[in-house]
Amino acid sequence: MKRETLYIDHMEGGIAYRDQNRKDGETYKRLCTLPYDTLIPEGWAYKMTGSVRNAIENHIKAIQLLAGGTYVNPTTGTVVPVGYWLSTRLHMEGDSPLRTWIINLAKTYGVTPEYVFLQWKLYTRDQVPESNADYMVFDLKFRRVHVTPAERMLKKFPDMPPRENCLTDMACPECGSRDYFKITMSSVFEMFDDGTGDHEDTEWDGTSACTCGECGHEGTAADFTFEGLDELIEANQKSDEDKDK
Ligand SMILES: [Zn+2]
Repeated sequence: MKRETLYIDHMEGGIAYRDQNRKDGETYKRLCTLPYDTLIPEGWAYKMTGSVRNAIENHIKAIQLLAGGTYVNPTTGTVVPVGYWLSTRLHMEGDSPLRTWIINLAKTYGVTPEYVFLQWKLYTRDQVPESNADYMVFDLKFRRVHVTPAERMLKKFPDMPPRENCLTDMACPECGSRDYFKITMSSVFEMFDDGTGDHEDTEWDGTSACTCGECGHEGTAADFTFEGLDELIEANQKSDEDKDK
């Protein structure tokens, strides 16, 4: 049997995870894509299990932890901002040199010149003739948004129900379920000859083993916890209600 071999393809807008043993035209078969801005994996090619899926998911997790900062491409050393949402609007005017423009824009939006330059390159790559490139002024609207894990979850599963008691901020990262979780807890039980009786308070923390009651996804309780998730859901519901008024 041919073994799947993962190829991590760093592209302009994100990472493509490819299977080196399967061709798709000129390139390798794409298994999944991770955009640098949303950091939400897209377009899983087929139901994958096992080591390749694990390797991809671990790689994605590591990059998601960098949200709001930068990711350094290990092959080329290129620095890419990750976890930012960017909206751009383009118009041409004047003849300010590119460098000044970049530095001023970076100051205005409180981001680094490298970040502005990178976005400028991404935006103009296919649209601006080389000769004009240094003398174009763009009106770029940067929204510097640090995407939290809770925001990412809500984007992935927008219909998540609220929880306000024991399961506050908990959800399955795989299927979005918030019904119930099987968590390994410790407690002190009364033990009799015919079995166990009452027990004291249960104890568990982020390192406790946790399984989704819905899909069986396994991890630690920390993997299932998204700080601020229920505050976000509540805020969204409020704004929906306000819209309805
Ligand atoms: Zn699940």
